[in-house]
Amino acid sequence: MTRSLTILGATGSVGSQALDLVARNPGRWRVEALTAGSDVVRLAEAARACGARFAAVADAGKGQALKEALAGSGIESGAGPEAVVEAAARDAEIVITAIVGAAGLPPTMAAVRRGAQIGIANKETLVCAGPVVTAAAKAHGATLLPVDSEHNAIFQVFPHDDPAQVERVILTASGGPFRSRSREAMRGVSVADACKHPTWSMGAKISIDSATLMNKGLELIEAGQLFPVSVDQLGVIIHPQSVIHSMVEYNDGSVLAQLGSPDMRIPIAYAMGWPERIATPAQRLDFAAVAQLSFEKPDLERFPCLALAWAAMRAGGSAPCILNAANEIAVAAFIEGQAGFLDIDAIVAETLAMVPSGRVETLEEVVAVDATARDVARGLVRRRAA
Ligand code: NAD
Ligand code: MG
Repeated sequence: MTRSLTILGATGSVGSQALDLVARNPGRWRVEALTAGSDVVRLAEAARACGARFAAVADAGKGQALKEALAGSGIESGAGPEAVVEAAARDAEIVITAIVGAAGLPPTMAAVRRGAQIGIANKETLVCAGPVVTAAAKAHGATLLPVDSEHNAIFQVFPHDDPAQVERVILTASGGPFRSRSREAMRGVSVADACKHPTWSMGAKISIDSATLMNKGLELIEAGQLFPVSVDQLGVIIHPQSVIHSMVEYNDGSVLAQLGSPDMRIPIAYAMGWPERIATPAQRLDFAAVAQLSFEKPDLERFPCLALAWAAMRAGGSAPCILNAANEIAVAAFIEGQAGFLDIDAIVAETLAMVPSGRVETLEEVVAVDATARDVARGLVRRRAA
């Protein structure tokens, strides 16, 4: 049976791997809509290749260029953030949310509100607005299927019918490119150094988050939103080989884990095919070649971002939203050369100290807190650059 599919963030790392799966499985999905931030050439190429009905670019100034790139294809198009929301709102059974950052929140909500099956890669949306998104999913009958490899692993081994059987949920982390570096040795690192992930190939923002370990912090918060477990049941362990993608420890002492090669097409295919499994070309694990699996405790002193995320998760309310907004600004500043690598955790810590956190119950409240935190973080970036 052919199922309809929309991919938000189709030109990125996750989005293009989702499209790779579409191309490898003719007839399984019919693509309704694709979206991108600003790259209209890649977006139009992808839309033509998969026969999408609608393509939207978030950059409002790129509407004409997208129309031209799609000329003669019969594919409708739109531009601006509202067009991306329109893409998500169009009738597709499955939506993969592969936009990076809190920019993914409005389109994700549009898909949630029509009860779609959502493969959620866009973790920032769950970090800044988890309770709002999950409550809406429940109210509208949307299914949230995690694409993030750790959460997908947990989803696969979690006792959904009886969560009381769970004692702990343990997220694995590769440790990133600076796993064994001192703080001093991290000071002058370049964007290229920070993006050299040891095991996964990903977009720039998440690669830098992996280097600061903020990615694992965001994932802790994400796990708390996706699974019925308390903060104290969540843990992180560094596992440099990235073979075990995460684990669930049961009350009898059994630990169930999902293993695989570090290829995002495995969790993406899981979310796109669910409840069926789909064949992927991912490399099969060769245990003899892997030879050893090792583990170490995360170092919260060298990686303060992970400690900040733990604290924000414990504080709850708007604290995760403030953390995420400040991190997005700080990472963008690092990429643009306006801040150093070690400024990232400092800017996040200072923003959290400056913006009072409190309860957030509605989407509008989340959007307002996000905007305030971004302003404060931008001010901190400017002060550093001056
Ligand atoms: P990426 O930078 O490669 O791609 C991001 C996509 O979002 C692109 O299509 C881009 O055009 C679009 N986009 C950017 N800004 C936008 C905006 N303001 N409005 C609308 N669209 C915009 O990122 P990625 O690595 O594919 O990651 C996407 C999401 O998936 C992130 O939240 C990331 O944390 C998560 N994730 C990624 C991986 C991975 O392997 N790359 C793994 C786990 C989770
Ligand atoms: Mg992950």
